Amino acid sequence: MSSNGGVAAPALARKKLMGYVGFANLPNQVHRKSVRKGFTFTCMVVGESGLGKSTLINTLFNSRLYPRKEVPPPHQERPKTVAIESISADIEESGVRLRLTVVDTPGFGDFVNNDDSWKPIVDNIESRFDAYLEQENRVNRAKLVDNRVHACLYFVQPTGHALRPIDIEFMRRLHQKVNLIPVIAKSDTMTDEEITQFKARVLNDIAHHRIEIFHAPVYDNEDEETIAENEEIVRKIPFAVVGSDTEIDTPDGRRVRGRAYPWGVIEVDNEEHCDFVKLRQMLIRSHMEELKEHTHEVLYEKYRSEKLVGMGVTQDHSVFKEVNPAAKMAEERALHEAKLQKMENEMKLVFQQKVAEKEAKLKQSEEELYARHREMRDQLEKQRLELEDKKRRLESGRPLTPEKINAYQQQTKKKGFSLRN
Ligand code: GDP
Repeated sequence: MSSNGGVAAPALARKKLMGYVGFANLPNQVHRKSVRKGFTFTCMVVGESGLGKSTLINTLFNSRLYPRKEVPPPHQERPKTVAIESISADIEESGVRLRLTVVDTPGFGDFVNNDDSWKPIVDNIESRFDAYLEQENRVNRAKLVDNRVHACLYFVQPTGHALRPIDIEFMRRLHQKVNLIPVIAKSDTMTDEEITQFKARVLNDIAHHRIEIFHAPVYDNEDEETIAENEEIVRKIPFAVVGSDTEIDTPDGRRVRGRAYPWGVIEVDNEEHCDFVKLRQMLIRSHMEELKEHTHEVLYEKYRSEKLVGMGVTQDHSVFKEVNPAAKMAEERALHEAKLQKMENEMKLVFQQKVAEKEAKLKQSEEELYARHREMRDQLEKQRLELEDKKRRLESGRPLTPEKINAYQQQTKKKGFSLRN
């Protein structure tokens, strides 16, 4: 069956235009409309505290969006579970507004036992999917607010070894719910060679555990320059990043965002020094819409269809029926009532059968009794007639032989009669 419900698509003919019509302006219309509406983007950051998450977010969006967290003194009681905190800010660049939400997960990986560190994060991502699903099921769906997480920056410790069990566990639990973007934190603590080797190990582990991370798609029908840029981005994953939200002076007199060391300056925005530029390019400049689209069309769709199937809603002509919780409850109640009615009918049937069987049995024994009664009555009548006949014959004076008299006496004694001499 065709995907459009069996309706055959009309044959398409390519026609040449005789002059200017105006639909070449459609992309501009979309552009203006999008700019008017503004954009939203939700990014989650996960990794142990101190790996530079807040610094990187501030560096990415070039603002002090994320307040520096105070490190609690050692004697202070620290929270024992992973918390979820989100900060939203409206930022504007050349007239384009972006509502950016950063979801932080303080506490992740910070405990002695980190077994279930991933759980509150999965719950949070799913509850955002649920909120979107609930809006889609409303009668009025004119303005859907999208608070789903569109990308998750996972900060890998710059150990130089391989991924740790906690990294693998987290990525395995999350990879089908969010666009995972692994980054090697504080990569200025490693040499170029160490970074290359570490990246290879991380990618190896990711492939070995069949973890799906977000890959900037490369489309054939784009211009060569864009294709080359996208390929370059893909080659840099996992991005080895350096964050800094302060500006410093370089020995050659430039003012840059970076980190100063006794042996020199690491520039955040210099592609020779780290992959920060490529990460920003993918996340903001070239693939933000792609991340949102993948979240909606693949990750959310998977979650939504699994949830609906779990609720007992079946697929109808490749399109899922809308789920209305009230209708769903009414449907479940109707099903339950039908089940009860069926059970009642079955019980009635069994009862009726048993009654019928009992009645048939009673009737049979009644008939048997009647038959026995009839038989006895007939026998007695027959005996009575025989005796009457004999009596008549005796009374008519015909003498009996002594043997016959004896036999009659025996017979009548048995039946309780006495023979008159
Ligand atoms: P968070 O707890 O993960 O949010 O980490 P912060 O962003 O608060 O950073 C913790 C410390 O690491 C701060 O002193 C930062 O200045 C420092 N830091 C942040 N990014 C980097 C980096 O890329 N390299 C180095 N060497 N230090 C960094």
